[in-house]
Amino acid sequence: MSAYRDEDPRIHDIKTRIRIMFQDITTLLLNPKAFKDTIDLFVERYKGKNISVVAGIEARGFIFGPPIALAIGAKFVPLRKPRKLPGEVISEKYILEYGRDCLEMHVGAVKSGERALVVDDLIATGGTLCAAMNLLERAGAEVVECACVIELPDLKGRERLNGKPFQATMP
Ligand code: AMP
Repeated sequence: MSAYRDEDPRIHDIKTRIRIMFQDITTLLLNPKAFKDTIDLFVERYKGKNISVVAGIEARGFIFGPPIALAIGAKFVPLRKPRKLPGEVISEKYILEYGRDCLEMHVGAVKSGERALVVDDLIATGGTLCAAMNLLERAGAEVVECACVIELPDLKGRERLNGKPFQATMP
């Protein structure tokens, strides 16, 4: 057992200053079985749950979101970085580990009362998923769950999701 305690604020501070390894999902995509298994696990969970919107976060949410949307019979809505969507948008700014960012969604893409699933490759601090949920809720949608392939549990991103259900294939 470690002689150092996680509750020691110095330990917390030291951890936040260490660069976390980039989790590269492109190697997962090279293996059709593993990629399909990843999609199937999501589809098994969300099929039949009356979800009409899968909202994918740029960029890697665009890889996992569309096959899930097609398999569960939902539409796919891209949540993009600023100035990428051509139509009228609503925007949500958020704070990242190293800086700030913003997500945008087309006005009219989601209707009030629709049930939405948010998809991304990875949750770290949870800021990105939070911004995505805010966009959908501002459009009147109900966010049923947020789904990622990977969770970095040390960063406690789940705790920022205001109690919204969250599922990761790989904790
Ligand atoms: P966060 O808002 O802190 O939860 O960060 C999640 C977003 O940043 C996702 O869109 C991820 O693709 C990306 N991201 C953050 N940290 C990593 C990491 N260690 N490896 C790969 N992607 C990351």
